[in-house]
Amino acid sequence: MKRIPLRSDLRALSGYHSPQVDVPVRLNTNEAPYAPPVAWLEEVAAVARDLDWNRYPDRVAAELRKGIAALHGVSADQVLVANGSNEVLQSVLLAYSGVGRNVTMFSPTYQMHAQIARVVGATVVEGVRNADFTLDPREIERVVTESQPAVSFICSPNNPTGTVEPRENIEVMLAVAPGVVVVDEAYAQFSPWSALELVNDDTPLVVTRTFSKTWSMAAARLGYLIGPRWLVADMEAVLLPYHLDAFKQRAGLLALKFVGEMESRVRDIVAGRDVITAAFDRLPVTWWPSGANFVLFRPESMSGRAVWQGLLDRGVLVRDCSSWAGLGDCLRVTVGTVEENETFVTALKEVLA
Ligand code: PMP
Repeated sequence: MKRIPLRSDLRALSGYHSPQVDVPVRLNTNEAPYAPPVAWLEEVAAVARDLDWNRYPDRVAAELRKGIAALHGVSADQVLVANGSNEVLQSVLLAYSGVGRNVTMFSPTYQMHAQIARVVGATVVEGVRNADFTLDPREIERVVTESQPAVSFICSPNNPTGTVEPRENIEVMLAVAPGVVVVDEAYAQFSPWSALELVNDDTPLVVTRTFSKTWSMAAARLGYLIGPRWLVADMEAVLLPYHLDAFKQRAGLLALKFVGEMESRVRDIVAGRDVITAAFDRLPVTWWPSGANFVLFRPESMSGRAVWQGLLDRGVLVRDCSSWAGLGDCLRVTVGTVEENETFVTALKEVLA
């Protein structure tokens, strides 16, 4: 058997995987805890029957982009859609970074920013967050000025810390960054403000969003960016022909008919987040304020790993961040349904008792 070695610079990369364990309460990957609306499912089923499956999809996904543009009050040529926001991020990095170019981010943050940058051959330059996970504007200025990155990332709300970035920090980055600035807003619906208000044709800023969380469509893999028209047009160079399948284009467009329902679910999740943090206040844990559908916490009297295992033994899976740089003993819990949140809190009390 002839085996070809993997590219040597990729061998050191371990990938980004959350264990997919079959347990009753899965609060580890920040998905929506609810199925999509029944009316959406019925319409999607009808689409599946009627689709021209033998034909390639609309290559520019015109209708879906128009729908997303209307949702945000922008124009369709400012919208780029792809298979999950991860593919959006990958496309930006393919188009603007690559070998010999720097990409910056501020750790701890969403690991895929660095991971994809390395896969496309770029050099990763990481700045650091303060002890409370906020970001010092002087650190932004220092790292960006020194490394002159082709692409700079800010994740807001930040995964896994939940930290919402103040508008001033994005403005500081825009003022000093020589390249594209990406604000990853996978969790923006749960947060008090959005950098979308800063997007225009004169600013090299893109804001990325996903259908995986609020829209209950993680299984479908659909994400997008809003950015300047010239950037969206130039991204054509790296997208594969017909990259977004016809079924998904229609499913995403149909989801946009349910904005009201989604907004009410977001309110429920935010209320669930308050229930979880109120319980944290009565337990020996440190936790950090979150503008997302998850909360980062650190048990004070036990190791993070032991608490993760204790929760798993009780049928509750959370994200174990305890071995990640800067996150010693930390765990991240996704807000679930009312019942799931109760089960989590009860299990956590037992484990910490
Ligand atoms: N950005 C952030 C910050 C995330 O947490 C995630 C999901 N883990 C993504 C992007 C990717 O989301 P998707 O590819 O499902 O749209």
